[in-house]
Amino acid sequence: MGGQPMFILNEDSQRTEGKDAQTSNISAGKAISESVRTTLGPRGMDKMLVSDSGDVVITNDGATILEEMEIEHPAAQMIVEVAQTQEEEVGDGTTTASVLAGELLKQAEDLLDDDVHPTTIVEGYHEAASLAQDAIDAEVLDADVDEETLRKVAETSMTGKGTGDVAAEDLAETVVGAIQHVEADAGVVRNNITVRTQTGGSSSATELVEGVIVDEEAAHENMPRSVENAAIAVVDNDVDLKESSIDAEYNITEVDQLDQAIEAEEKELRSYVDKLEDVGAKVVFATGDIADRAKAFLAKRGILAFESVGDDDAKSIANATGASRAGSVDDLEAADLGEADEVSVEKFSDDELAFVEGGAAAEAVTVFARGGTEHVTDELERALNDSLDVVTAALDQGGVVPGAGATEIAAAAHIRDEAASIEGRKQLAVEAFADAVDVLPRTLAANTGMDPIDALVDLRSEFENEGIAGLISEGQTGIVGNPIEYGILDPAAVKQEAVESATEAATMIVRIDDVIAAE
Ligand code: ADP
Ligand code: MG
Repeated sequence: MGGQPMFILNEDSQRTEGKDAQTSNISAGKAISESVRTTLGPRGMDKMLVSDSGDVVITNDGATILEEMEIEHPAAQMIVEVAQTQEEEVGDGTTTASVLAGELLKQAEDLLDDDVHPTTIVEGYHEAASLAQDAIDAEVLDADVDEETLRKVAETSMTGKGTGDVAAEDLAETVVGAIQHVEADAGVVRNNITVRTQTGGSSSATELVEGVIVDEEAAHENMPRSVENAAIAVVDNDVDLKESSIDAEYNITEVDQLDQAIEAEEKELRSYVDKLEDVGAKVVFATGDIADRAKAFLAKRGILAFESVGDDDAKSIANATGASRAGSVDDLEAADLGEADEVSVEKFSDDELAFVEGGAAAEAVTVFARGGTEHVTDELERALNDSLDVVTAALDQGGVVPGAGATEIAAAAHIRDEAASIEGRKQLAVEAFADAVDVLPRTLAANTGMDPIDALVDLRSEFENEGIAGLISEGQTGIVGNPIEYGILDPAAVKQEAVESATEAATMIVRIDDVIAAE
C-alpha cells in the first residue's frame, strides 16, 4: 500500500463518533420532546405553527405539533416517530409518549457521564419497561367498562383542549353515543364513525348524525330539499346523451331537422329519467355530470339528484345505504337501490351538505362538529378523533387506569421497589427509568402552575398512605387526590403503548455511537 491513505467513505461524508455522536443525538431528541412538554395535560398550552406558506395550525396535540414542525435531525425524527406510532396504535397519549422518550434520553445522558455502558443502560431500560407494564396492568380498574366509565374516559381525553364553547361533558356524551352505535360483537367498528367539520355556528351545535354527511349540493334548485323513506341510486356515470351535442353530430340544413334532433335528444334524456323513476329511485347520486335538461325533468318528478359526486362520497353513501353502484343508468336495477329514512340538503353559510340519515344508513354515524372558525373546528376534530380512539381502546384493548399521573406514580414506585434486587450498574439504569417516568406527573404539576418538586413529594407520600395519588387539575390549581373519585380515567393501552414506544426510541438512540452522514 506504500503509505497511501485509504478512503472508505466519500470525502463529503460527515462522520461523528463516540461521545460526540451520543451527545448530539441525545440533545436533539431531548429538544424535540421538550418542545411539546408545555402542552401536556388539561392545563397545557396550545402551539401556533406557521408553515412556509403562512398556513396556521393552532393545536395542543403532540403528534400534530411534531408533524407540523418538519424536523430533519435523524435522532429528533425518531421522537417524532414515537408520537406517530402512538397516534396510529392508540390514537392518544402522543405528548405523554414523546415527553417520556425525551426524559429517558436525559437520564441516559447522566448515566453515560457516570460511565455506565450504553448496553447496560439499554438492558436496564428494557427491564424497567417490563416492570412498568406490570404496574400498569395492576392499575387496571376491576369494574366493568360501562357507559359511565366510557364517558369519563372520553371527557378526560378532551379536558383542556380548545374545543370552543362546548363543555367536554356534552362532547363526551356525543362520542360515547357514536361508539355505542358502531359497537359489534367483534369490537368497535371505528371506521364506521366519521368526524365532519363545518364552520359557522357554535361548537355547542356539535351533534351526532345517524348516517353520513357528504359535501354535495342538489343538482337543480327545484328539486325537493328533503326526501323521506328514500330509495337511493348511486350511478358511476354521467346522466347525459351518449353521443355529443347537436352541432358536432348533425348536419343541419333545415329548421325541421333541428327540431328533430332536439326531440331525439330529449327522448334519450327522458328515457334515463324514466328508467330512474321506474326502478323506484327517489334520490340519485351520480359521479358524473347530469345534463341540464335531465335535471329539470328529475326536478319535475320530485327526484332529488346530485352530480359530480366524489368517489369517496359515493363509496360511503353506497356503504351506508346498502346501494350497489351501477355503471350507468342503463345498468341500474331495482335491487341496486339503497335506502335511508331521509335524505336532505342543508345550507351552512356558503356550503350545502347532503345528510343521508336513518334506515340502513344508520350503521355508519357521523359526528358533525361545528365551530365559529376553521381553527376551532380543526382542533375540535382532533379532540373528537382522540376521544373516539380512547373510548375504542378502553372497550377493546384492556380497560382503564387512573389518570392525572396516578398510574405513573404507581409504576415508578414499583420499578424502584424491584430495582433494589437488581445487581450491578444495571440497577442504576432501572432507577433512572423510574425517575424518567416521574417527568409525567412533574410536568402535569408544572403546567398547572405548581412547584413540580413539591408536587412530586406530596404525590409520593399520598401514594404511600393511600395506594393511589394523582395530580388533579381543578379550576386554577392542582390538588393531590384520587383521580378515580374525580372521574379522570385513561385507557390502559395508551399508557402501555407510551412506555413501549418511548423505550424503543430512547434505547435505539442510546445505542448509536457513530453517525455517518452522506453529503
Ligand atoms: P397526550 O397527548 O399525552 O394525550 P394530553 O394533553 O391529552 O396529552 O394530556 C393527557 C394527560 O392529562 C393524561 O395523563 C390524563 O390523565 C391527564 N388529565 C386529563 N384530565 C385531567 C385532570 N382533570 N386533572 C389532571 N390530569 C388530567
Ligand atoms: Mg390526550
